[in-house]
Amino acid sequence: MRTVDEHLTDILGSVAVLPPLDLALLEAQGTVLAEPVSAPVPLPPFDNSAMDGYAVVAADIAAATETDPVTLPVVGDIVAGDSGVSAIRPGLTARIMTGAPLPAGADAVIPVEWTDGGNATVRVSRAAPAGNYIRRAGEDVVAGQVVVDAGTRLGAPQIGMIAAVGRSRVTVRPRPRVVVVSTGDELREPGSPLAHGQIWESNGYMLTAAVVEAGGVGYRQATVVDEPAKVLEMFEDQLVRADAIVTTGGVSMGTKDVVKEVLTGTGTVGFHKVRMRPGKPQGFGLLEDTPVFTLPGNPVSAYVSFQVFVRPALRAMQGLAPEPLPTVSAVLAEDVKSPAGLRHFMRGRLSFHRGSYAVTAADVQGSHQLGSLASANALIELPEDVEALPAGSHVDVMRLPS
Ligand code: AMP
Ligand code: MG
Repeated sequence: MRTVDEHLTDILGSVAVLPPLDLALLEAQGTVLAEPVSAPVPLPPFDNSAMDGYAVVAADIAAATETDPVTLPVVGDIVAGDSGVSAIRPGLTARIMTGAPLPAGADAVIPVEWTDGGNATVRVSRAAPAGNYIRRAGEDVVAGQVVVDAGTRLGAPQIGMIAAVGRSRVTVRPRPRVVVVSTGDELREPGSPLAHGQIWESNGYMLTAAVVEAGGVGYRQATVVDEPAKVLEMFEDQLVRADAIVTTGGVSMGTKDVVKEVLTGTGTVGFHKVRMRPGKPQGFGLLEDTPVFTLPGNPVSAYVSFQVFVRPALRAMQGLAPEPLPTVSAVLAEDVKSPAGLRHFMRGRLSFHRGSYAVTAADVQGSHQLGSLASANALIELPEDVEALPAGSHVDVMRLPS
């Protein structure tokens, strides 16, 4: 027997970060940056107008009021994108649009709303300090500044920022390609009829979806029957294309536990009883450098095992901290019991009201009871030494991805 932490430490000590890949910016969405991206020029690159209005010398309009406006001749029109260098002299003004370069000599922008909007001359009815509505070069980002750090997952703001510093490609950690395979003679494809004794295959679908939620690319494979030769053949076929392989079933103490039978002593794969519920029988190791996770077959065991062991490993492969699912402290709504010596992951519903989280454990907690997982939004994590907790206790609760 080993603890959850021991098993996770073993896994994280074995998986390696994936080699970097150069991608077009939009293809990199959701991947993790492998290089710091910095700005080759300041942003904005030049002083420019923050408003549609008039570029002026602030001193010229210092006396302007509603009742006694200052009138200035308009000597030009500057629009965003103007590449010519313009200038004004004291006593003159130029119409200027948002984002247009500030003409030399001007030190303030008067928004059109403070004027009569004139074309040949303009009446300005409000004074403004120097610097008014001017966006200074470098006030967003200075030249050379790192704008997105290595190790950041690229969401919309980061992709916008990288484009804004002129980059069309980035070096990222690729999404891990994860092959997901279910084993079991009793499993049938959803969409096909069942004979007595058969069930529809669900783990493969569930875990392929979980891989995507964890930032990977999931490849669900056809179910493999409980025959050693077939299981071995599957591993040989999949190793060439997978960054990781996740199987379910065939790792406990039954007569048909072929995954365990076939992989025992292969590569560095080891099988362990882990002090947890659900999910006690676990296998993990490297086959030709590829991490292989052999998870138990009961659907809730498979799911919890994925979140506790596979997800952090997939994060590490992407160059992210191998953090657990986002965890909050919540107040138990009802008493709970927990098996001594095992870390207990209970399905529950987390809710937020009046400034704090409360959590209610699902009525049924069997590892085959997928129904209570599908209606849960959280896993209550009870430590090994807890055997019972009264309502009102604070517990750690992992939020499930949604
Ligand atoms: P095993 O670990 O292979 O002994 O399977 C344990 C339990 O999980 C059995 O009741 C299996 O029928 C069930 N099971 C295994 N694999 C799957 C799967 N892919 N989808 C749904 N149930 C499964
Ligand atoms: Mg089985």
